Amino acid sequence: MHDQPALAAACAECEEIVPLFVFDEPLLQSHEFGPACVNFMIGSLEQLSSSLAGLGIQLQWRRGEPVEEVVRAVRDWRADIVYWSRDYEPRANVRDRQVQQELMRMGVSTRTFKDQVVFEAEEVRGVSGEPMQRYSAYRTRWWAKWQATKPVALPVPKAIKSTRLVLSPSISTLPLAHDLGYEVLAPWVEPGEHHALQRLQSFLNGPIHRYSDGRNLPAVDGSSKLSPHFRFGTLSPRMAIHAALRTLAEKGRVSRVDVLTWVDELIWREFFHQVLMAFPHVIDGPFRNAAVPPSRRPGLERDRLFQAWCTGQTGYPIVDAGMRQLNQTGWMHNRVRMVVASFLIKDLRIDWQSGEQYFMRHLLDADVAANNGNWQWCAGTGTDAMRGYRIFNPALQSKKFDPDGTYIRLYVPELAKVLANRIHEPHLMSPDEQDRYGCQIGVSYPAPVVDHRQARQEYLDLGKQVKQ
Ligand SMILES: Cc1cc2nc3c(=O)[nH]c(=O)nc-3n(C[C@H](O)[C@H](O)[C@H](O)COP(=O)(O)OP(=O)(O)OC[C@H]3O[C@@H](n4cnc5c(N)ncnc54)[C@H](O)[C@@H]3O)c2cc1C
Repeated sequence: MHDQPALAAACAECEEIVPLFVFDEPLLQSHEFGPACVNFMIGSLEQLSSSLAGLGIQLQWRRGEPVEEVVRAVRDWRADIVYWSRDYEPRANVRDRQVQQELMRMGVSTRTFKDQVVFEAEEVRGVSGEPMQRYSAYRTRWWAKWQATKPVALPVPKAIKSTRLVLSPSISTLPLAHDLGYEVLAPWVEPGEHHALQRLQSFLNGPIHRYSDGRNLPAVDGSSKLSPHFRFGTLSPRMAIHAALRTLAEKGRVSRVDVLTWVDELIWREFFHQVLMAFPHVIDGPFRNAAVPPSRRPGLERDRLFQAWCTGQTGYPIVDAGMRQLNQTGWMHNRVRMVVASFLIKDLRIDWQSGEQYFMRHLLDADVAANNGNWQWCAGTGTDAMRGYRIFNPALQSKKFDPDGTYIRLYVPELAKVLANRIHEPHLMSPDEQDRYGCQIGVSYPAPVVDHRQARQEYLDLGKQVKQ
């Protein structure tokens, strides 16, 4: 409801309004997104519906092929004009263009608005107007644009003009995830605008002041956990950035570096959106043809290793904790996302697209632009790629960022009693230690599926061959 330019314009310009949500049947059928996303979306719609009801109007919903459903609704309600927020995914772009063409044929006007991002792709360009391929240069120009334009966040409309049309009461109750073919579960991050605003406030009151360090520690509540809200439009990035910058102005004690580092992450989000808009081929393959080692061939060994990664049974505790966190909650800490992605691509030598797809199906914040951009970054095929042949060492990452193993213990209970000096590499425990800490390697917890040092060397050797 807040900072919603399409809604604000409709309220200002129209005599009557009918808010419509269309459940995209082909998208639901594809199961490209998983139950975590679907339940979050429905929870958010329920809150939207009740906020609209508070203003005296009812959210309408339909389910089917989106172009047909919008056209049918416009006919049923004899609408003169349709307002919506722009979406930057290539497939959504095609869909929205089709809607626009159909409505134009019917003589119905359309108005679309920027909403998901502070700046759209064409607003932040290089010196010759070209799309940008380097984050650092993009970031500089993004800030210049922010200073020059000072984007304003819009308030919730005070009054919404209701419709006089008689709408069927049977369409007023929203479906459950189960009705849409998905398992019902309670989202790990609470859905809806109300919770988004609460979470933003509590983040700005605390964790943001320690963000630079806290964001790297998976056992600590150090990041905002607002990504599902940015993803589903229950929080405006414009509004969040203004709120963060206000804490800088209001509280002298606040570390400037911490706040600006957090805003940088939102600029990364915008950067990946503009990459997707300007270079839609990234959806189907690498951004650039980098000289990276080939992936393992399809076959039983590849499938066995992929299965171990998906289920958190690799024998590398930080990787397993991350994958189990994802499977149980739909969430994974950013540092751990980078570790598991590096492990899949470089230790197991499995194509990054398999990881990208798995994340899309399981993440609560599954977002085509951010997910693709980050996977390509980890694979070394993206715009800004991970430096050289940098390969994360899972044990070192875990010692550095989860030193006492708190995060590991939470998601890998087999290791709950293992001491901190052994928890990062439990396969190094002697038989005596395994008995003492109740963890038999190869029985209660897997032995490493690959040897990291050997896998690393193989990856580097293959890299050299590819370069030659
Ligand atoms: C392999 C991989 C896949 C990822 N897939 C997704 C995805 O599908 N959806 C998604 O939103 N993020 C994705 N990320 C980025 C990042 O992990 C999450 O945005 C972050 O963990 C969300 O937590 P937060 O809200 O607490 O972030 P905070 O640290 O509080 O950051 C604030 C916001 O900035 C944005 N952001 C932060 N980091 C990044 C980043 N690296 N790239 C783009 N935006 C960022 C998010 O919107 C986030 O909510 C992925 C990262 C990796 C390494």
